[in-house]
Amino acid sequence: MSNFLVCARFRPLSSREKRNHGANVCIRRIDDGTFIFKDEKDGDLAFSFDRVFYEESDQANIFEFLALPIVHDAVNGINGTIITYGQTGAGKTYSLEGPSILDCDEQKKGLLPRVVEEIFRIIKPSLEATASLVKLSMVEIYMEKVRDLFDLSKDNIQIKESKLEGILLNGVTEQELPVDKRIKSGKLILVDLAGSEKVEKTGAEGRVLEEAKAINKSLSALGNVINTLTCSSQGKGNHIPYRDSKLTRILQDALVGAKHIKASLHNCSEDENSRKQKIMLQNKDESY
Ligand code: ADP
Ligand code: MG
Repeated sequence: MSNFLVCARFRPLSSREKRNHGANVCIRRIDDGTFIFKDEKDGDLAFSFDRVFYEESDQANIFEFLALPIVHDAVNGINGTIITYGQTGAGKTYSLEGPSILDCDEQKKGLLPRVVEEIFRIIKPSLEATASLVKLSMVEIYMEKVRDLFDLSKDNIQIKESKLEGILLNGVTEQELPVDKRIKSGKLILVDLAGSEKVEKTGAEGRVLEEAKAINKSLSALGNVINTLTCSSQGKGNHIPYRDSKLTRILQDALVGAKHIKASLHNCSEDENSRKQKIMLQNKDESY
């Protein structure tokens, strides 16, 4: 099985879109993996994904299919990444956080609270027998600068690489729980990407245009890295351009697996060493 899993999620039409007579649903469901996009110019186009989540899918479906296996891997020392990709308004933040990160609605809560709950559910029985350490950092990449969201005074965090721990954010705030020696170490990164809209469509100027350029640069760097990784996994062994953006640099060992960390582990089976990353793609807002 591929190390990457690519899914599409359709959100329901918003009430504003429903009111707008010009808006209509332009996809037709084929099955859980394929839909037809009805394009006015090109006719029907079929798209296939590892899984398509149609509008009735709920947050629990997404969590169980996409995130649950990665959380279990991370607790067992295998790095993983979940990325939401799509235009502004497509539902990236909704999928990650829910309608609001402060909204505790059980059904609507997104991946982030579910992932945290699952991590603690898994490690709870072992907390006394085996010490566990959970560290949480939150950063924003803005104009190719990494900013600590737990301490806004740290607005230019440098990225470093350590032999033992892989990619590190130098001096970033880490919220910690009970500490002791670690046996396995896994990193799980959840990414809420900036909107993927085309710059020329937004008519941006000045500072906004500069922001849009930086966003597009990092999104295309991410695309290049993923394409190259996909080719490499087919044995081509290409150079992987992680250093082309802060985003890809930070994701480096969570995208490719933790070879430094794994090298320091004793109990990793071959199977555990297989790397797994899952990417959640969201369909373009335009498709509704
Ligand atoms: P993005 O982060 O991609 O810009 P948002 O997550 O903010 O988009 O979603 C845009 C709007 O659509 C928000 O009001 C959000 O609550 C709503 N929304 C997104 N996905 C869903 C969904 N699956 N079900 C219901 N509402 C959704
Ligand atoms: Mg958002």
